[in-house]
Amino acid sequence: MFDLELERTARWIRSNGYSRVAVQLPEGLKLRAPEISDALSSAGAEVIIVGRPCYGACDYYSDYKKIADALVHYGHSAMPSLGIDPDVLFVEARADCSVAGPLTRCVGMLPRNVGVLASIQYIGLIPEAVAIIESSGRKAFASAGDKRILYPGQVLGCDCSAAEAVSDSVDAFLFLGEGDFHPLAAAFGTEKELFVLNPVTGEMRSVESIKDRILRRRFASITIASEAEKFMIIICSKAGQNRSSEAERIADKIRGAGKKAYMVLLDEINPDTLAHYRVDAFVNTACPRIAMDESARFSKPVLTVPEAEIALGLRAWEDYRFDAIRE
Ligand code: SF4
Repeated sequence: MFDLELERTARWIRSNGYSRVAVQLPEGLKLRAPEISDALSSAGAEVIIVGRPCYGACDYYSDYKKIADALVHYGHSAMPSLGIDPDVLFVEARADCSVAGPLTRCVGMLPRNVGVLASIQYIGLIPEAVAIIESSGRKAFASAGDKRILYPGQVLGCDCSAAEAVSDSVDAFLFLGEGDFHPLAAAFGTEKELFVLNPVTGEMRSVESIKDRILRRRFASITIASEAEKFMIIICSKAGQNRSSEAERIADKIRGAGKKAYMVLLDEINPDTLAHYRVDAFVNTACPRIAMDESARFSKPVLTVPEAEIALGLRAWEDYRFDAIRE
């Protein structure tokens, strides 16, 4: 169902004469590594699968020249803010489906002005969705986002700038995609109602209850961290997650509150890599979804930057803000 564009990728390898190609796969595609490797090897190149975890274009393997002439990164779109490298090919693995049937059935539930959003696998359905919404007499908006966003209407798990750009013009958003990860970014990043339509199953739903459950957990972590005296601030070495200036800014605030602030540079952030540090709480300036979605895995509070401001008494809980990474 997801188009891996194996023939186009093999042509790209052959036409550029690459002899060694690194292939980076998100976790969900790693089980197809042998099939992908076989198909790309047919272009005459040695294929090396990059085995380290991969969650987004934010952690594309920029050191690929150490092992190969080129890199094929699957499952995400290029992040324009990281620059264009002609020897890197992003294969977005788009879903091969239509939204016409499901959307025609439920378009009557939408309000008059609708912002249309999608995750990368479903981004190609946005023009079709816009046409269906507008033919029903409604207005549809799909706007460009910031420099981390490649397509109008695209949402990353940490970036819903495409939604923010049209938020004042719409009554609600329609998100095309599956799972909770990307719709939750849109739900946290905008105050407007969000309808999530799965183009494959045709199910239309809300993520409000999941959002509320996460917010309750965040409140618990912030409450515990408000008693903390020693904070470790996490900076990420991945280019698309590096926010050193944010780390310095929150360190100043922690010290200004009379508490200790330390900094650590990490590549992977998980319970094992944090286990060594004897502090009371962590502030994560890397992927904000680690703190928000995976808090149950950590034995100590892991906060986003705005959450740390609440714990320090510098921001009200009512002013809770999604920690979007912006460029
Ligand atoms: S920082 Fe996190 S949410 Fe943002 S693109 Fe990377 S993995 Fe996705």
